[in-house]
Amino acid sequence: MSRPIRARIDLAALRHNFAVARRYAGTTRLFSVVKANAYGHGLLPCAQALAGLTDGYALLDLADAVALREAGIRQPILLLEGYFDAEELPILAEYGITPALHRADQLEEIELAGLPRRLDVFLKVNSGMNRLGFTGDALTAAVRRATASPAFADVTLMTHFADADGPRGVAWQLDRFHTMLPCWAGPVSLANSAALLRYPETRGDWARPGIMLYGGSPFADIPAEQLELKPVMTLASQIIGVQEIGPGERVGYGGTFTADRPTRVGIVACGYADGYPRHAGTGAPILVDGRRTRLLGRVSMDMLACDLTGLPDSGVGSPVTLWGEGLSADDVATAAGTISYELFCALARRVPVDFVDGEAGGRGGRETD
Ligand SMILES: *Cc1c(COP(=O)(O)O)cnc(C)c1O
Repeated sequence: MSRPIRARIDLAALRHNFAVARRYAGTTRLFSVVKANAYGHGLLPCAQALAGLTDGYALLDLADAVALREAGIRQPILLLEGYFDAEELPILAEYGITPALHRADQLEEIELAGLPRRLDVFLKVNSGMNRLGFTGDALTAAVRRATASPAFADVTLMTHFADADGPRGVAWQLDRFHTMLPCWAGPVSLANSAALLRYPETRGDWARPGIMLYGGSPFADIPAEQLELKPVMTLASQIIGVQEIGPGERVGYGGTFTADRPTRVGIVACGYADGYPRHAGTGAPILVDGRRTRLLGRVSMDMLACDLTGLPDSGVGSPVTLWGEGLSADDVATAAGTISYELFCALARRVPVDFVDGEAGGRGGRETD
């Protein structure tokens, strides 16, 4: 038998979460954000699971966009960071892939490229995130150029919110967006998951939900469950060793946990080289035999320790859930001082992945959507 760690990706849960996004979106079209290998969940299986539902896909790598086309995906595909080199332009044209343009020289480059067909483009507006995009007069000029030049087909304006999940909200950025573009009557794309869930006024023509599709809550103070989102990735392993230690004994590198009573320590085949966050320390939640207990000490490269003192029936071979079904990745992420996005994306290549669809996952109960 191989090392017992596995990730299970529940494609029915992905579709369920998409349906939640659809409910919030109303008639707004949805780009399913599948960047970073679908947030670590597997690009092609996830894209295909959504193929009958989504209006488009958004990602970063041209090679991934081409892979979607070659897998038969027909919907619009948006490159969120645009293209990087003029050599890519003929490929964008050939495969009908839409770049987000964020610099004036890109408009010129496309005009000079002599492409066999007009490109649909998104123009990125910098409304306050201050990463990519046009502002002020450069924006006005870019919009004028893109809408006038025969090199371009449909033009959509997009922006991205810096604090849709936080206290600052989106109003200040929406104000800037509308002030910079008082006369724009064409399509807009504004909302990520947090904005889609929290601010209906940001729905626009195209929304771009990512994390919510994978069952992560974009909000620190609202559990995914409360948003009716289901976990898609479950990272599971087993207890492979047990130590009974007395008071004063320590656990793991640096001995950061010291037992203050007789303690049963379970050793789990999962470490930071599997993608488990090393910064989760003593107290981070973990499920053993479906019961919640806590991490003990430091996470090693290939192992971590948990507290079995209150779980006398658990031992070698007991199933362990690191996150997913029954234990929100958001809770584990919080304990490690990060966000579920990072946990998902960090899932290591060495972890075998099983894709399941509803009942095949052994979860009982039919999916209703
Ligand atoms: C990643 C990304 C999204 C999706 O954000 P979530 O918080 O995962 O919903 C949307 N738009 C842009 C530009 C992005 O980079």
